[in-house]
Amino acid sequence: MPGLEDLYREIILDHYRTPRNRGELEPPAIKADGHNPLCGDDITVYLDLDTSAGTGDDAVIRDIKIGGQGCSISQSSASMMSQAMLGKSVGDVNARIRRFKTMMGIEGLDEIESDGDIDLGDLEALQGVVKFPVRIKCAVLGWSTLADALDRCESAEARPAPPAPARRSARRHSRAHPPPRPPRSARPSPSSWASSRSSSRDSMRPISAMVYLLVSIFSIVISESFNVNGFSRI
Ligand code: ZN
Repeated sequence: MPGLEDLYREIILDHYRTPRNRGELEPPAIKADGHNPLCGDDITVYLDLDTSAGTGDDAVIRDIKIGGQGCSISQSSASMMSQAMLGKSVGDVNARIRRFKTMMGIEGLDEIESDGDIDLGDLEALQGVVKFPVRIKCAVLGWSTLADALDRCESAEARPAPPAPARRSARRHSRAHPPPRPPRSARPSPSSWASSRSSSRDSMRPISAMVYLLVSIFSIVISESFNVNGFSRI
């Protein structure tokens, strides 16, 4: 059906020329980088999760931004993906990642029957890519990078929260009184500084006297020989 293929091409080119959700997010947003060496595509996914309604699968994608560069398939796929994921729960997002990868002919995924009902919207435009195995990696790059970002969110959630008030007060203290030098324990005590300095000075005394003597003798010899040779040349 050439008409449909034209439409798909239009959709892909539109997302490539005018990528949606392009940009960056500042920490604490999660960042993940993906690279496809076969084509030279780079995708960076920034993810900001809203966990007020719940963590894990119940967390919601409050914001998503895409960075990177590459071919039209990789960039348009990531653009469409960002549009489809904004405002979705992590559970929905994971289902969509599975659905898309299945559409791309990637096997070995946990088959979940309900995934088949998911409407990928504009992303259906990428189904023609399956005919070109080399480009499948281009189309899937953004999705794998998103999955990586979600894994990072999960491990960040799983990490036990640090004793925040103590850390904050320590930081405030260090801001108010910036330590100009490392803590006392990290450097030698004043007495050891003094003793090490004096001992080195004591041991240097005979050496410097000898050096002085040698330099004096040397300079006398040099000046004498210069006088003799210099004058003898005239
Ligand atoms: Zn590519």
